[in-house]
Amino acid sequence: MQECYRDPYLNSFKAKVVDARDGVVLIEPNYFFSASGGQASDRGEISWEGRRAKVVDVVNESGKVLLKVDGDLPKKGEEINCVVDWERRYALMKAHTAEHMLFQALSRTFPGIYPEKVSLEPNSFSLFVRYTGSLDWNNVLRAEKMVNQVIREARPVHVHITKKSEVPADVRIKMERIEDEEVRIIEVEGFDKVACSGLHIKNTNELGVFCVSHITSDKPGVWKIDFLHGSDAVDFLLDTSKVALSSSQILGTNADRLEKTAANLLAAEERLRQEVKELSEIALAGLKQEEVNGTNLYLRIFSCLSQKLLQEWAGKLVKKEKTIVVFAVRGEKTASIITGRSRDLALDMRKIGEEAFRLMDGKGGGSESFVSGSGDPKKLDEAIRFIVGNVKR
Ligand SMILES: [Zn+2]
Repeated sequence: MQECYRDPYLNSFKAKVVDARDGVVLIEPNYFFSASGGQASDRGEISWEGRRAKVVDVVNESGKVLLKVDGDLPKKGEEINCVVDWERRYALMKAHTAEHMLFQALSRTFPGIYPEKVSLEPNSFSLFVRYTGSLDWNNVLRAEKMVNQVIREARPVHVHITKKSEVPADVRIKMERIEDEEVRIIEVEGFDKVACSGLHIKNTNELGVFCVSHITSDKPGVWKIDFLHGSDAVDFLLDTSKVALSSSQILGTNADRLEKTAANLLAAEERLRQEVKELSEIALAGLKQEEVNGTNLYLRIFSCLSQKLLQEWAGKLVKKEKTIVVFAVRGEKTASIITGRSRDLALDMRKIGEEAFRLMDGKGGGSESFVSGSGDPKKLDEAIRFIVGNVKR
C-alpha cells in the first residue's frame, strides 16, 4: 500500500533520504503517488539547503516507491522538503472519482456494460467499456445528468480497507487483478462501491461539473469515453452549446430540433442522390455526338456536375467504338476537364491533356486513353479548342 493513501490531500511534507543514486531517490515517508489504477504518477519537487531537483516520475519497483529526479541529488540521510504538483494530482483525484461515478451511472442506463480499463493522464481522462449495443447520446446524457446530480448532492467518498476474502458482494472488483491480501474499496456514499488503487477526493461536490466530451470505438464492442470535470467541463459545454445554437440558426431551426433537422437533411440528400442518378441515365442516353473524321465526338461543358459522375459517364461512353469524350465543368474558381477515347483510336490523350491543362494554368494526369485535370475557368475554352483541334487533325 502506498503511503499517500493515508492522506491524498497531503501535498507538502518533510522526508529523510534513505538512498539516492543515478537520479533515483528513495525517501521516508513518501507521499508521492506512483501510477496505479489507471491514474498517472505524481510530479513535484524536492529541495534541501538551497539545492533542488524536479520529480519527473514516481515508480513502484518491487513494492518500493522511488522518485526519478532531474537536478541535484541529495545525500543519504539528508532531510528534504517535498512538494507534490498539486494541480496535477488534484485534477487526477477528481477524475478518478468521476470515473467511478460515470461507470456506475452508465451501468444503470446501459445494462450489461462492462469496465475494460481506465486511462487518467493530465488533461486526458478516458474510461474504456465493453458494450455490445450502441452508446446512444440520449442514454449517455441520462448518465451524465445522474453524475451531476450526485455531485450536487455532495456525497462523501469513503475508503474502506478489507480482506480480499471479505469483500462485500455489492463491490465492483476484478479479483484476478488484486495482488495484495488487503483491498481498498472506494465508496461514493449510497451510489457506488469499487475496488481501486488510485487516489480520490473526499466529497463529490469537489468536482463542480462533469461531462462526457467524446465517445469513440476503434474495436467492435469496445468504447472509449472521454470526460471532463470542473471549469474544463464548463468551457466544453459552453463551446458545444454555441456550436448547437449557431448551427440551428444557420439551419433556421431551434437547437432542440437540430438532430431531427440534420437527419431530415441527410435523408433529403440521399433522395437527391438517387434522383441525380436516375436523371443522369436519361441525360447520358440523350447526349448528342458530332461526327469528326469518322469518330464520334461527345463534347459538353457543364456548370456543376460532380467529377465522379462525369468520370462514370465518360467511362461508359468510351466503351463505344471510335469515340472521343470531352467533358468540362466550368466552376466559379476552377474549371475541370475529363477527356478520353475508345481503345480503337491511337490518340495520346496524356500528351494532349498535358498541353491543354498547361493552357489553363492548371494540371492533371491520367493514362494514354483517359485524362482529367483542372485550371483557370477563364482559359477553359482555349484548352477545349486545343483538344478538339487535335481530334479533328
Ligand atoms: Zn479509483
